[in-house]
Amino acid sequence: MKNEQEERWIIEDRNAIRNPQKLKKHINIDDRRLNDLMEVRKVFQMKITPYYLSLIDKDDPNDPLLKMCLPHKDELIVRDGELNDPIGDINDELKNHPTPLITHRYPDRALLFPTPFCGGYCRYCFRRRLAGNPDYKYKKSFLEDAFKYLEKTNSIIEVILSGGDPFMLRDEELFNILERLKTISHIRTIRIHTKMPVWNPYRITDDLAEGLTKFHPLWIVTHINHPNELSDTAKKHISRLIDRGIMVLNQWVLLKGVNDSVEVQRELVLTLISSRIKPYYLHYLDKAKGISHFKTDIIKGINILKELRGTVPGYAIPHYILDIPSGYGKVPFQFHYLNEDENGNIIVETPEGNYIPYPKNIDEKAVELKDYSNVNPIVLFSEEEKEHLKEVLENGNTK
Ligand SMILES: *Cc1c(COP(=O)(O)O)cnc(C)c1O
Repeated sequence: MKNEQEERWIIEDRNAIRNPQKLKKHINIDDRRLNDLMEVRKVFQMKITPYYLSLIDKDDPNDPLLKMCLPHKDELIVRDGELNDPIGDINDELKNHPTPLITHRYPDRALLFPTPFCGGYCRYCFRRRLAGNPDYKYKKSFLEDAFKYLEKTNSIIEVILSGGDPFMLRDEELFNILERLKTISHIRTIRIHTKMPVWNPYRITDDLAEGLTKFHPLWIVTHINHPNELSDTAKKHISRLIDRGIMVLNQWVLLKGVNDSVEVQRELVLTLISSRIKPYYLHYLDKAKGISHFKTDIIKGINILKELRGTVPGYAIPHYILDIPSGYGKVPFQFHYLNEDENGNIIVETPEGNYIPYPKNIDEKAVELKDYSNVNPIVLFSEEEKEHLKEVLENGNTK
């Protein structure tokens, strides 16, 4: 038997609010808004832990955390191009879904979905077709099929437990999965994607953290969108992982009205690094159904990162990522500082926006700042290099 303190996360989960009527006790909400919520709730899941509610300013209808957890009537508006499965977890044409619990898009990494349940339901979820869906078909035998696929596919060097939230599993279930993965020799690293440190940080018990140390090298990727989500409680529980040598990264989403400003993003990355968490990916919003009210201009993320460069430590800057709809993969967007002029000379843009020719020879005269009017961004990668990489990926990690 574990002591009560350790199991606080289960109580927290049980007490989570799933019925909009019960919200009245916790936040100021008028009847019209409540009725809207009931309508949305018929289509999408809702679940808010008492802990998460405690981080919200009850009297501020624009509280950023409230926006991320409280259903909004705009979720019932479906726009052109919005999809059930926006990032193509299942795309038959790409053959990226060999068995029910696996999505295998890249040669070297595979996603394993051990549960459809989460500690809370994000209003902008890209997997809302399955997250928390009680009709999601899940059989015990699926897990065995997944292990068999991972065992026979040599090119896979990393398995990523995603979801749903893998930390919704009980310790024993989770450790059983990790133990099995540990027996597969071509798997070099295991990664876990989780939002439990945000919805319900009590999940990171000492038992869990200690048990996980058996599965090094282990990488954990959290999902924190706003500095207010990194409460002292959250920091304390995440530290249990970091203190034990587990690498913790954070990926998050650019969300209109929540974090779409340089100020909030700057505060977020600074809070992350002072909590020893490495900012990893800033995602552009996926085209899931009914989430367009969170959408920003795609250029906005590039500009935010450009502003961060030079005003925060370099390691605090994430990659800005688009997951191309339908499963074509993730691509980073960033401002290009590398350009060429009409004669093919390399021209570099400075953080202040001046252009400087980059000298070909070390003894060339000091650079002069110029106002180049027609420089073009350049990208360097030879066909030969591309071929070589393709070969390495196709043949797995055989040397
Ligand atoms: C996002 C994703 C990954 C992980 O990508 P990283 O760039 O390694 O974080 C792997 N497989 C699929 C299908 C994904 O969508």
